[in-house]
Amino acid sequence: MSKNFYILTLGCQMNKNDSERIVGLLLSLGMSHVVKAEEADLIIVNTCSVRQTAEERVTGFFHNWKELKKKNPLLIIAITGCMPGRDKDGKIKKKYKDVDLWFGIDALPQLPKWLEGLGLDCHSERSPQGGVEESIGDYLQIIPRRDNHSSVFVSIQTGCNNFCTYCVVPSARGRERNRPMKDVLTEIKNAVKNGAKEIILLGQVVNNYQITDKEIISTDNPFKDSFASLLWEINQIPGEFRVHFTAADPQYFSDEQIEALKLPKQVNYLHLPVQSGDNEILRKMNRKYTREQYIEIVKKIRKAKPDIALGTDIIVGFCGETGDQFQNTFDLYKQCDFDISFHAMYSERSGTAAAKAFKDDVSHAEKKRRWDILQEYMEKRTLEKNQKYVGKTLRVLVDRREALSFVIPTEVEGSLKQSRRDSSAPPPAGGSARNDNMSVCFGSSDELKLAQFLGTPEMVGTFQKIKITQALAWVMRGTLEG
Ligand code: SF4
Repeated sequence: MSKNFYILTLGCQMNKNDSERIVGLLLSLGMSHVVKAEEADLIIVNTCSVRQTAEERVTGFFHNWKELKKKNPLLIIAITGCMPGRDKDGKIKKKYKDVDLWFGIDALPQLPKWLEGLGLDCHSERSPQGGVEESIGDYLQIIPRRDNHSSVFVSIQTGCNNFCTYCVVPSARGRERNRPMKDVLTEIKNAVKNGAKEIILLGQVVNNYQITDKEIISTDNPFKDSFASLLWEINQIPGEFRVHFTAADPQYFSDEQIEALKLPKQVNYLHLPVQSGDNEILRKMNRKYTREQYIEIVKKIRKAKPDIALGTDIIVGFCGETGDQFQNTFDLYKQCDFDISFHAMYSERSGTAAAKAFKDDVSHAEKKRRWDILQEYMEKRTLEKNQKYVGKTLRVLVDRREALSFVIPTEVEGSLKQSRRDSSAPPPAGGSARNDNMSVCFGSSDELKLAQFLGTPEMVGTFQKIKITQALAWVMRGTLEG
């Protein structure tokens, strides 16, 4: 009888894609994926170390799983991801005495052998890799098994050589490694054949991707920059789909990459983490650009794509950050006029250069005060900026729907009642508003802004044209068009 596995994924999109590989590998061993830990023979958690709180979450789950192990001593508990990855001295592992397997994600190809060693009889009858997994050197060669076929993560690179002083990624994931472009293009072609409407390229420093198999670059590819070249090759793949990427680093954002943003399949959004708007803080973070250089890149991007939506990441309260230095960050925010920004209060990470070199001396209250200032301004400004979409028709990739009865805001209810009342009238443009399996559909526009409209379940996973009738800070409402 096949063995069951339960997987818990914490952290970023890269971890989500890694977990798709873990699932692909375990299914190829003939195991079954269960959604309850109680039903599992193997529990595996893919951990995140970006903040202390992310690691502490594991402790909570682990406590419950130990109880399960008392009832089922054959239960195997495995911990992978960034926590084991960065645990060079084994200090963190000491807290998890009953864990059976503790390994960084790079060692994933060894998992079948380890499971056999622990007595979990798993046979590779259905191995898509057609042979013994141990032959796989790089875990990125393991084929991901995805639940979501319309919006697909594709890792092109892992690891990082930058060593920003607050970050654990280089120690957790090691040095930068790039996947052969051939493998990346094959994976994308298969995903598009399988119905993908959105390809999200992933890497810690995705725009520092280096093409290792240059012989496959098309002769008419106009770009010299590796990442821009890759985007161009992807844009040649037939089919209606859009391309997005994360996480980009400003220091690598060349003029060719800016030009490549204009390629037809590129989303109308760019996420470009700045982290701070103060040069002294950027220097202490070991970020390899100045505020002036960042602002210059944003100007060039806006010149190339005037209506592009821009997002960023900002850390407030980094070691020694003064009120004036925070003000420089706030000023940069206004100058760059972002559409969205993910704000984080600095969280000291053991083992990082910042933890060794600097004092975490900005009080939590002051970090929160600065966080609130940015958050408040962002919400006000994003609401203002979104008004420009009212009356416009946007292409929206629908990713979910909810039954009508569940989320009827008054204005929708009004129009619903209206549409029911005059159901004898010819259907409005787009037609589906009248059939009975109406739903509230959600999706994201090419600016990656959340959109909501009345539609049908079949629209999930498709592009729809939506005329925006109302724009709030975090959602835009509209009606189906044509
Ligand atoms: S670029 Fe800096 S923040 Fe990003 S993964 Fe690398 S070290 Fe971490």
